[in-house]
Amino acid sequence: MCSQHTSSLEFKRHTLAHMLAKAVVDAYPHAKLTLGPAIDTGFYYDIDFSGGPTLGDDGLKEIEKAMKKLLNTWTAWSHREVTVEEARAHFAGNPYKLELIEEIAARGEAITLYTCGTGKSEFTDLCRGGHTENPHEEIPADCFKLDKVAGAYWRGDETKPMLSRIYGLAFETKADLDAYLTQIEEAKKRDHKKLGTELDLFSFSPLVGPGLPLWSPKGTLLRNLLDDYVWKLRHAAEYERVEIPHITKKDLYVVSGHWDKYKDELFRITTREGHEFAMKPMNCPHHTQIYARRQWSYRDLPQRYANSTACYRDEQSGELSGLSRVRAFTQDDAHVFCRMTQAREEFLKIWDIVHTFYGTFGFKLRVRISKHDPAKPEAYLGDKDRWALAEGILEEIAKEKNADSFEGIGEAAFYGPKLDFMAKDAIGRDWQVATIQLDMNMPERFDLTCINEQGEKERIVMIHAAIMGSIERFMSILIEHTAGNFPLWLAPEQVRIIPVADVHIAYAEEVYHALKAVGIRATFDDANDSMGKKIRAAKQAKLPYFIVVGDKEVADKKVTLESRAGTSQELDLHIIGNHLLAEIETKKM
Ligand SMILES: [Zn+2]
Ligand SMILES: [Zn+2]
Repeated sequence: MCSQHTSSLEFKRHTLAHMLAKAVVDAYPHAKLTLGPAIDTGFYYDIDFSGGPTLGDDGLKEIEKAMKKLLNTWTAWSHREVTVEEARAHFAGNPYKLELIEEIAARGEAITLYTCGTGKSEFTDLCRGGHTENPHEEIPADCFKLDKVAGAYWRGDETKPMLSRIYGLAFETKADLDAYLTQIEEAKKRDHKKLGTELDLFSFSPLVGPGLPLWSPKGTLLRNLLDDYVWKLRHAAEYERVEIPHITKKDLYVVSGHWDKYKDELFRITTREGHEFAMKPMNCPHHTQIYARRQWSYRDLPQRYANSTACYRDEQSGELSGLSRVRAFTQDDAHVFCRMTQAREEFLKIWDIVHTFYGTFGFKLRVRISKHDPAKPEAYLGDKDRWALAEGILEEIAKEKNADSFEGIGEAAFYGPKLDFMAKDAIGRDWQVATIQLDMNMPERFDLTCINEQGEKERIVMIHAAIMGSIERFMSILIEHTAGNFPLWLAPEQVRIIPVADVHIAYAEEVYHALKAVGIRATFDDANDSMGKKIRAAKQAKLPYFIVVGDKEVADKKVTLESRAGTSQELDLHIIGNHLLAEIETKKM
């Protein structure tokens, strides 16, 4: 899909990297160029400024201006293949380019030099090609911007010299660039780590350790509401709840294959008697043993087990980030044990749950059909016929549902192919969310069967079906998607009641009790602060509603419901509770 478009943008970004290099060496003749690729949001160039002045963020404007001037004269590229000797002569004194030249030569590849510009704007670099043919014509001068300078080791190796990495942003048009800049600004404001603290949802303790989030009462309430919602949808699809311990003997993972495959991520425990145990990094192997407790008849299938439970993975400290990457997380997990002939229908049921759940929050979904990489058979369990069969079923389903789908070669789990759902959030970012996986290997390894119509044992299949995936990760996405403005049904504090003066307290308490009586999470602000301050606090807390009680309300027995969006609505005291319950029921965003 749109590979033409993507590669043309990549060509532009790559071309701009050359332009950046030229502008830098013009202004800093001592600078040594190294490598400068196109990246997802633009381009960068790693440059060694040692032996002279260094370019900092403050110098970027000048370089950007020089690039725009160059753009006027860069109208065509030429290139030539050179011998190793010629290349060495051209880049004499630049150890980085010389290193690259030796590597290209060692691989037996042609060495090519690309040139653009004329006269003073002429610039030649070591390159394999992939440029915009006429940069002046094809690259709008306002579609790119130099972004920042960061440190980067040559070849990412900390024993090697530290270089300056100059980042540029580049898009097809100025509008695309502006949209990206706005998205970055918005993302900063919505950062779930920042909002998580401000809204008092979760925290980390240096004593407990990194990657181990602690949930405060408000955050816990939110998690439970989300989990209950998933459960409600699952219950309607005839799932049953199960429960399992968080550790297991090594034997379970030896049989499942995880002992080897998950070696590095497993938290291991040796008991005082010297037995090896592990904290569970996933729940599937435990669930197989619930299925295996007895011999099932085909009439008993599918068996659908749901279980929201914590998993533990020994992630590297450097990779931990807020709630997005943690060492302990809760999966809203489920496994369906069924016959191959039932797999399609079970997939469709889960598909509907996924769409209902994400639709509730206004996420748009795309689905990736994650397949195995046929070039790396050693990375997967099970034979290739079973893979072909399983992948065929997933393709069929995506087609039947007329989904916005695409293929991901090499994105499968080691035990089977998956449908991975991507959600687009309120500021246009894509997140990988739910996943449905067909697994024909685990039933094989654990010898899971049912007795079929002929009275024979028949191999079953297993479907892994997390909806949120991990509650932590989903929370991080939801916080950023909503910017902390949770819908009424999820808001830990739904309504705050603010009496104007002491004489209004009695009626304000009446309002408070009317809401509490129907289960609304109402609070009462009787602090000694000014009205203005109390209203600001309610807005800062991102409460869906607050109610100010003054003379008029007391006299009329009315309630004025003020929303965080700035609207207000006057209601009779006796209907306010049901009015809010009705909104909660709809789960309106
Ligand atoms: Zn190039
Ligand atoms: Zn699973």
